[in-house]
Amino acid sequence: MQLKAQVQLKNLNTLNLNAIASHYVQINHPDEVIAALAFAEQQHLNVLVLSGGSNVLLPQQVQALVMHLNIQGIEVLSEDENTITVKVGAGQVWHDFVLYSTQQQWFGLQNLALIPGLVGASPVQNIGAYGVEAGEFIESVQVYDRELKQFDSISAQDCHFAYRHSIFKDHPNRYIIVSVTFKLLKQAELKLNYGDLKQAVGDTLTAENLQNQVIQIRQSKLPDPKEFPNVGSFFKNPILAQVEFDKITQQFPNIPHYPQANSSVKVAAGWLIDQAGWKGKQLGSVGMFHKQALVLVNYAEATLADVQNTYQAVQSDVKQKFSILLEPEPVLYSEQGLIQAHSG
Ligand SMILES: Cc1cc2nc3c(=O)[nH]c(=O)nc-3n(C[C@H](O)[C@H](O)[C@H](O)COP(=O)(O)OP(=O)(O)OC[C@H]3O[C@@H](n4cnc5c(N)ncnc54)[C@H](O)[C@@H]3O)c2cc1C
Repeated sequence: MQLKAQVQLKNLNTLNLNAIASHYVQINHPDEVIAALAFAEQQHLNVLVLSGGSNVLLPQQVQALVMHLNIQGIEVLSEDENTITVKVGAGQVWHDFVLYSTQQQWFGLQNLALIPGLVGASPVQNIGAYGVEAGEFIESVQVYDRELKQFDSISAQDCHFAYRHSIFKDHPNRYIIVSVTFKLLKQAELKLNYGDLKQAVGDTLTAENLQNQVIQIRQSKLPDPKEFPNVGSFFKNPILAQVEFDKITQQFPNIPHYPQANSSVKVAAGWLIDQAGWKGKQLGSVGMFHKQALVLVNYAEATLADVQNTYQAVQSDVKQKFSILLEPEPVLYSEQGLIQAHSG
């Protein structure tokens, strides 16, 4: 385990925010988690778990131990006629694992191709895209539980997966995920009922083609963080109670919406932002992307304060027009390395 001091995290977060970590360690093996936590305790430091940095908002100074997860490995645990159970190290790149699974003819994750980040982060907000959520294929999550001070395995049921949510969001500093166990299918069951996916896939009904189409659609709609630093969708799609939704549709009958199981309605945050005049609009060095209003971009050397100014202005304009408060999706950190609530 190699500890470092004063480490620049600019290239380790996809919004390219300047952030200096007072202490930093790369974790290559689960056992190193314990040694790193002991060091943090001894030094009275909080611990900030960082994976691919594609869903975090970091302050300029992080006075904490940044634990950068790099645990590798893909291990087949068992299989039967219909399924295969695979344990994947938290540090594996998510997209590479999706490509690998398709190559192996393991099915389920194809709709989630090209989502940035690492496998260990996938259960945290239960990543989802094109009608599929990672939680549907997770069997269990292997963690170090900082409260009980032991390694543990949490079943998918106990993870309480929901839209961009899980137990890991409810207990932000408690668990360090070291690997994720997936149960994948041996027969492809293509999920095509989201947006323009069915049309894109056409008659070539294979998992490879589905994956390629997802990649192409994403590349045509979403900015590449290397060119336009961003964290993907900046706000969650708001979920409204039916009465609330009915009130809004009286005034805005064209609002894109997706009925949910419990008679609530999910509405498209990107549309709300666009209607509030923010598509392609910038405030200083930070703005909402011209092709996709839901994506906030750092166009120059923005700081966290610049990002906050812009997204709070977006929240305020959307609130004024629709009486809906948009909730930011990325995780906001304090200078002490602790997860903070977004104000706004
Ligand atoms: C261009 C772009 C497109 C995106 N598209 C999507 C999308 O379609 N769907 C979607 O759901 N998300 C999307 N995202 C958001 C992001 O990619 C996901 O949330 C991803 O899972 C974050 O992974 P990461 O490794 O970068 O996590 P990080 O940003 O490093 O961490 C995110 C949070 O998870 C915690 N965490 C990470 N790893 C662990 C671990 N091993 N143990 C405990 N806690 C951990 C961190 O502490 C942090 O609080 C997109 C982002 C970008 C930039």
